[in-house]
Amino acid sequence: MQIETNNPQQTKELGRALGGLLQKGNLLLINGTLGAGKTTFIQGLALGLGIGATVTSPTFTIIHEYPGNPPLYHIDAYRIERETEIPELGLEEYFYGDGITAIEWPEKITAWLPEEAMEIKIDKVMNQQDKRVLTFTARGKKDYRSLLKELKRLASTGD
Ligand code: ADP
Ligand code: MG
Repeated sequence: MQIETNNPQQTKELGRALGGLLQKGNLLLINGTLGAGKTTFIQGLALGLGIGATVTSPTFTIIHEYPGNPPLYHIDAYRIERETEIPELGLEEYFYGDGITAIEWPEKITAWLPEEAMEIKIDKVMNQQDKRVLTFTARGKKDYRSLLKELKRLASTGD
């Protein structure tokens, strides 16, 4: 499924809509270049999960935990430079824990990712500075397919 947004607020709103549909243990892989809007989308997710804290781009911290019910685990894998750093992160505790995990730059940790996840790719559009195309793909298992279906329904009714 593809959805276009025309400004950061719309991307955040979309994140918020998805946030309201998530279940404990859900994993979101968020792809896109620098400045695509991955963190913006995750800020919306936090809102949708009822998390008051502001989600920022962690510069040196790879994992940020935001308490909530469920909590949000924001992983920004951008700074990972060596594969040897990855086991130290304790990723399984997040993936198989009771929170929602949202990962920026998941391609940095491909081999460590579970098969089942929601993939979200954010693309910039040439010559349209504030436009983005978000592509949602359910990976594996039926859970994410039904999540996608629910999001599609929300998006088509405009909330
Ligand atoms: P990333 O985490 O992918 O590096 P950020 O979310 O930190 O990206 O930044 C995205 C930047 O792009 C912000 O400066 C935001 O204001 C801008 N922007 C412009 N249009 C959009 C849009 N439609 N959706 C999201 N961000 C947008
Ligand atoms: Mg970011």
